[in-house]
Amino acid sequence: MRKLLLLLLILNGGFTFCQIEEVRRITQQLCSPELNGRGYVNKGDSLAAAFIAAEFSKIGLKPIGDSYFQEFQHSVNTFPGKMLVKQNNRILIPGVHFLVDAGSAGGKMQLKPKRIPISIALNTEKLIQEIQAISNGTTYNSIAFDFRKLSSDTLRKINGLTRKIAGIMPVIEVTDRKLTWSVSSEQLKYPLLQIQDSVFVFDEALTIEIEAEQLTDYRSNNVIGYLPGKRKWGKKVIYSAHYDHLGRMGEETYFPGANDNASGTAMLLSMANYFKKNPINRSIVFIAFAGEEAGLVGSKYFVQNPLVKLKKISFVLNLDIMGSGEEGITVVNATLFESEFKELQQINQEQKLISHIKSRGPAANSDHYWFTQMNVPAFFIYTMGPNKNYHDIFDTYENLSFVEYQDLVALLCAFTKQL
Ligand SMILES: [Zn+2]
Repeated sequence: MRKLLLLLLILNGGFTFCQIEEVRRITQQLCSPELNGRGYVNKGDSLAAAFIAAEFSKIGLKPIGDSYFQEFQHSVNTFPGKMLVKQNNRILIPGVHFLVDAGSAGGKMQLKPKRIPISIALNTEKLIQEIQAISNGTTYNSIAFDFRKLSSDTLRKINGLTRKIAGIMPVIEVTDRKLTWSVSSEQLKYPLLQIQDSVFVFDEALTIEIEAEQLTDYRSNNVIGYLPGKRKWGKKVIYSAHYDHLGRMGEETYFPGANDNASGTAMLLSMANYFKKNPINRSIVFIAFAGEEAGLVGSKYFVQNPLVKLKKISFVLNLDIMGSGEEGITVVNATLFESEFKELQQINQEQKLISHIKSRGPAANSDHYWFTQMNVPAFFIYTMGPNKNYHDIFDTYENLSFVEYQDLVALLCAFTKQL
């Protein structure tokens, strides 16, 4: 009876693949304010790298060379200090009411923005006239574009426009769309803000006090651990997940990046843990990439300076956004590697794991991209579900469901054994 109970526990509890309490501990730690959103203010990404290296060591992964770290340098714009935006006496909340553009300059100033409707934004000649009139006059010193109720077609047309104008004067985009942040390697000449239309009053001055600092030669580290297989020769499997996120936007506000990609980093560790205890023939290299949000710079550096010969890689499995799955998973590059994709589907059907596996073609949307460019076979897998908190302050640990986490680990374990 006892044996039967134990067997039932193993079958139902996912004990064989990973323990969800451990996954929760790691994800929560990566999302904590102490790690500063794993960005560049207070060296958040370095703190996260040290945490991951300690986990690699606990699991028993080996470094390739002297340490787990592969250092590279890049340039990044940061917001380490003041982040005040005030209209009349209303203080706007960073991340909720407004964002500074990732490339925004800082400044302490009073803005008197002229409202520019979309019709003028789309008319280059008229727009130039407006800019000249503002520059020559004394009434206004900046622009507030009225970007409410725009179609996706119009949005495409104005893509990049405000960044160009922020080279001439401060710019505000007044928007009714979700605020989504990013990372920029460069700094614009003037402040560029996105403000929610529900809190913005046109024709009313604003006070801003924003600290921005561009860090050139910032040092980041890919964290790389090696697990020798039972067979010493042959190609290696690579598991990757980026651990960096967007960091801080001012002293008070940080982006936890729970789904993107504390969840994938946790899964990287789950896979390492499983294969350490259940070795397969192939050796496996686990890479936690840095600088993904800054333009896939960590994976680019790795592919240009590979610690594993690219020709010796059998397959790359890149994990990004692993915290949901209610609507299944998507496999990027599925159309490039049809037989591997069929295998994945077959395992899934046999073991009844994920509700839906969607096929997608190549896309430059995560770290697998550079491997694909170098003809190294790779899948990028992400989960889909009702949690739409993406690149915003609401992508928190509390909003992760982890519904398909254990099933996905089981699927990847079975798939990897067949590679
Ligand atoms: Zn990501």
